[in-house]
Amino acid sequence: MKILVSACLLGINCRYDGTNCANQAVIEYLQDKDYITVCPEQLGGLSTPRLPSEIRGDQVFDSAGNEVTAAFVQGAKAVLQLALENNCELAILKSESPSCGKARIFDGSFSGNLTVGDGITVKILQSRGLEVVNEDWLI
Ligand code: SF4
Repeated sequence: MKILVSACLLGINCRYDGTNCANQAVIEYLQDKDYITVCPEQLGGLSTPRLPSEIRGDQVFDSAGNEVTAAFVQGAKAVLQLALENNCELAILKSESPSCGKARIFDGSFSGNLTVGDGITVKILQSRGLEVVNEDWLI
């Protein structure tokens, strides 16, 4: 089984601020497994660094108020295509992200508050039957 994984969890500097979220538990878990790394926001054409974005309703906005939904959807579709082409059955994605967060995401106010919801990529992958977990699944 091939696994899809958020690139920032493996130490790739693809976060909005040009940093990563390297997660040792994920790195060790994947050591003897077959996986591919993705960053939906980069696949959607967004630059790194970029302004942070959050979901409000069915749309995504950056912190300057620009609507960036199209880029997030484009990136999510690109990730889905890669998942299908590689027969991925599991995705380990970064928590709380407007793309990769599962079950809880920032609430759209850019105040650090979380709310119940899934990121854009999580929604698309789950709609096609992929199992999606966040990195805390390994703890
Ligand atoms: Fe990490 Fe996903 Fe954000 Fe890319 S879009 S930086 S993979 S959380």
